[in-house]
Amino acid sequence: MSVLDVRGVRKAFGDHVVLDGIDLAIDQHEVVVLIGASGSGKSTLLRTINLIERVDDGQVLLNGDDLTDPTVDQDAARARIGVVSQHFNLFPHLRVIDNVTLAARKVHRMPKADAYARGTELLEQLGLGVKAREFPDRLSGGQQQRVAIVRAVMTDPELLLLDEITSALDPQLVGEVLDLVRVLRARGSTMLMATHEMSFAREVADRIVFMKGGRIVEQGTPAQILDAPQNPDTIAFLERER
Ligand code: ADP
Ligand code: MG
Repeated sequence: MSVLDVRGVRKAFGDHVVLDGIDLAIDQHEVVVLIGASGSGKSTLLRTINLIERVDDGQVLLNGDDLTDPTVDQDAARARIGVVSQHFNLFPHLRVIDNVTLAARKVHRMPKADAYARGTELLEQLGLGVKAREFPDRLSGGQQQRVAIVRAVMTDPELLLLDEITSALDPQLVGEVLDLVRVLRARGSTMLMATHEMSFAREVADRIVFMKGGRIVEQGTPAQILDAPQNPDTIAFLERER
């Protein structure tokens, strides 16, 4: 069974069709990278999986459970997925350790002592141990984004969605965030991420999915998509990215 199974998902805003029949299954431990021009529907796809946007048609299954079933508890479903976007969205009045543990305590009802122990351990493992007691404004953008990633993995989500997580960062801060994604990959996280970092996509992706106009145009291994794309739209997109 796939961790994620997106079946025939359609989404329009008014008469603008943004997702035009998306089928995408992701296996456990698989890392899938979405590429495509701005406006191709990458973020909307991630937002429908996370139930921020409601699908017009189709289904999103997480480990076999249909999240788009109207009777599903949306908060409980969302709690099974870790999400990081380009905006770090840390609470400025909370220390790093409290930012990292808040959802675990409030949403997952993890006891405070357990959440702190787990949060402290993760921050240490992921190179942020010395920042645990700091407030976010004392951290660089790269460090803040790494904290947001730690927060997302605190409760061992079944799936991690990463949407352009380096696009708001100064170039010299991108590397440390991508390093953390490498660590998560090595730890076996199942991930679906949108990125413009093609060299990073090549390195971490098991599969690259190229989207255009709300459709999956072509997908395959990094070598297939980046070195030998078949579809003219994929070829044109990659030419522009170079
Ligand atoms: P990408 O992430 O690939 O750049 P998006 O999923 O953000 O693409 O956007 C796809 C299209 O959907 C764009 O044309 C965008 O303007 C439109 N769109 C996204 N969200 C909304 C919304 N809430 N209301 C109306 N249009 C939207
Ligand atoms: Mg986007």
